[in-house]
Amino acid sequence: MDFASLPKVVLHDHLDGGLRPATIVELAAEYGYAKLPTSDVDALEQWFDQGLSGSLERYLEAFDHTVGVMQHPEAVERVAYESLVDAASDGVIHLESRFAPSLLTKGSMSRSDAIAAAVAGFRRAEAQTGTTWGLIVDAMRQESDSAAAAEVAIAAADLGVVGFDLAGPEAGHPASRHRKACDTVLGAGLGLTIHAGEAAGPRSILDALDCGAQRIGHGFRVIDDCTVSDGEIVDLGPIARRVHEGRIPLEVCPISNTHTTGMAVVDHPIDLLRRAGFVVTVSPDNRLMSRTSMSGEYRLLATTFAWEPSDFHEIGRAASEVIFGPSSLRTGVRERLAERTRPANLE
Ligand SMILES: [Zn+2]
Repeated sequence: MDFASLPKVVLHDHLDGGLRPATIVELAAEYGYAKLPTSDVDALEQWFDQGLSGSLERYLEAFDHTVGVMQHPEAVERVAYESLVDAASDGVIHLESRFAPSLLTKGSMSRSDAIAAAVAGFRRAEAQTGTTWGLIVDAMRQESDSAAAAEVAIAAADLGVVGFDLAGPEAGHPASRHRKACDTVLGAGLGLTIHAGEAAGPRSILDALDCGAQRIGHGFRVIDDCTVSDGEIVDLGPIARRVHEGRIPLEVCPISNTHTTGMAVVDHPIDLLRRAGFVVTVSPDNRLMSRTSMSGEYRLLATTFAWEPSDFHEIGRAASEVIFGPSSLRTGVRERLAERTRPANLE
């Protein structure tokens, strides 16, 4: 299968988790960021790769570095531009990118400046590639500034901010603490997705749903509220039922999930959930830290669960139906997806 040529829709991709290693080195030199572990591009790529060996400190340090070189508007513009160009060359026809503007205000940028810089980069790349995009503004669960982040997101809706997300550690930092921000963005018509059911179990998903989440980031631990027998889901607990019957899309990021949990790929419940009728989508999460891409995710799913082109078309279609933003955007993505999946256009 030619994975790169399959048309893809990405719902879950962190801007600060997908930098090119060479760009990190160049930006660090340009802006005097002196904390990189090495300025050799190959060695740095290797360093990020080894950051996945189960050490949370190392994983978080990786974000210190990517965020560290993104404290200037020109840097954010470049990173956004490159992320959409890289996505387009991997067959992505629509990219929803996300980041927390509050992490980019260590220099002179405001949150709004950071959003405007990213938007400029996405627009430049869209003009070149034709790949469309939407921006999701993140607030961090462990911080107390989500209401302010929500206001910034709403103010930038006409620039291309389409949604809002809560990221960061689930345990001890319930989504319900950010209820006000969630209510505000929903009231303003933005989409709401919340990271839940990754590090914590189904109760965290319930908490996110109670905050009005329309999609769940990762969410695969909904399996803990399902009864599995002979390799099939045979019964749903109350939380799993709510996700299933509510057709709540799960933004599953298989490779990242195996890295953060230590589970073997073959034990990932994505195939089980999909066969049981959950709305499953596939995304890469942090392409740099997980050394992945959409093609990489698809390849893994094809190898592990024998997914075929028709499965990937279905995955793409499912994602295209739940992208955030104006209905005209959704319609355009659906049309391009249909065009690219016509039999005559397939290998
Ligand atoms: Zn994520």
